[in-house]
Amino acid sequence: MQRETLLVIGANGQIGTALLPRLQAQFGMQHVVAADLRKPQTETGIFELLDATKPDALVDIVRRYRVTQIYHLAAILSAKGESDPIWAWNLNMQTSLNVLEVARLHGIRKVFVPSSIAAFGEHAPKDGTPQSTLLDPATVYGISKVATENWLLYYHKRYGLDVRSLRYPGVISYQSMPGGGTTDYAVAIFHEAVREQPYTCFLAPDTLLPMIYMDDALRATLELMDAPEDRISVRTSYNLAGMSFTPAELTAAIQRHFPAFTVRYEPDFRQVIADSWPRSIDDSVARHDWGWQPAFDLTSMTQEMITRLTAFHN
Ligand code: NAD
Repeated sequence: MQRETLLVIGANGQIGTALLPRLQAQFGMQHVVAADLRKPQTETGIFELLDATKPDALVDIVRRYRVTQIYHLAAILSAKGESDPIWAWNLNMQTSLNVLEVARLHGIRKVFVPSSIAAFGEHAPKDGTPQSTLLDPATVYGISKVATENWLLYYHKRYGLDVRSLRYPGVISYQSMPGGGTTDYAVAIFHEAVREQPYTCFLAPDTLLPMIYMDDALRATLELMDAPEDRISVRTSYNLAGMSFTPAELTAAIQRHFPAFTVRYEPDFRQVIADSWPRSIDDSVARHDWGWQPAFDLTSMTQEMITRLTAFHN
C-alpha cells in the first residue's frame, strides 16, 4: 500500500496547532508537512512557508513531498472577515479552489476542508439544526463556507475527488488562542479565570451556541478521514455537535472552580453574528454514517481546560 504523506495548510492556527501532533503520531514525522503564512513559534517536524492563494507555491510543495492528502485549515474567520469582506471572500475562496484544483491535477487521494455552523443563517431552524436546511448565512465567512461546501460536492461528483468536511461548532482549546471567530469568548474566558482576573464578554449572558472541545473536534476529523469511502454520504459538509451552552452557564461552570471569578457583559457586533447562528445542532447523519459520538460535556470540558491552563500559567 502507498505510504500517505499529508499537507496541513494553515497549520499554525487554533486547530492546526492541536491537529499536527496527532497526525504526526499517526502517520510519522516525515510524512506530515505543515504549511502556513507565518513560521510557528516552535517548529516540530517539516514546516514550509506557504501562501495558499498562490497555486504555483502549492503545487511545488505537493510535488516535492509527494503529498497524498491535504488538510486545508487556512481561512479568515467570522468576526475578522467582517472587517474586510472582499479580502476575506477572496482569501477563503482562492485558497479552497487552489487546493481542489491541485488535488484534482496531482492525484491527491483525500482532501479535508472544514466548514462551520456559520454556514447557517436566519432561516435555518435554530434548535437541532438539521443536516439539510436552507443556508442563508449572515457573514462573508458563512457565505464563503456555503460556496466551498458546494465546490467540494462539485469536485466529488465531477472528478470523483474524495472530499470530506465537517461543520465545526465553536472549538474550545488550551493549545493556542483562537483566530477571530464569534465563539472566541469561550476560550478567552478560561485564560482570565485561571489568572484570577475578571473577564469582559462580548456576547450577552443568554447567547446559546454550539461548541465542541478540541479533543472531540480532532477525533471527529480523524474518524471522518479514516472512514471507508462508502460510509460517506455527505460530500458538502457534515453537521457536528459537541455541547451547547451560554456565557452565563459557562461562567457558572468556571465559578465552581473559582468562586470569586466575575464576568461583565458588553455585547458588540459579534452579538448580531451569534444571533444568526444555530443554538444546537442535529448531527445524527454523522452518527449514523461513521459512528460519531462526542465525549466532552460542559462539566468535563471546563475541568480539562482549567487543569491544562493552570499548568500552563504556573
Ligand atoms: P485560525 O485563524 O486559528 O488559523 C488559520 C491559519 O491559516 C493561521 O495560522 C493563518 O496564518 C493561516 N493562513 C491564513 N491565510 C493563509 C494563506 N493564504 N496561506 C496559508 N496559510 C494561511 O483558524 P482555525 O480556528 O484553526 O480554523 C481552521 C479551519 O476550521 C478554518 O477553515 C475555519 O473556518 C474552520 N473552523 C474553525 C472553528 C473554530 O472555532 N476554530 C469553527 C468552525 C470552523
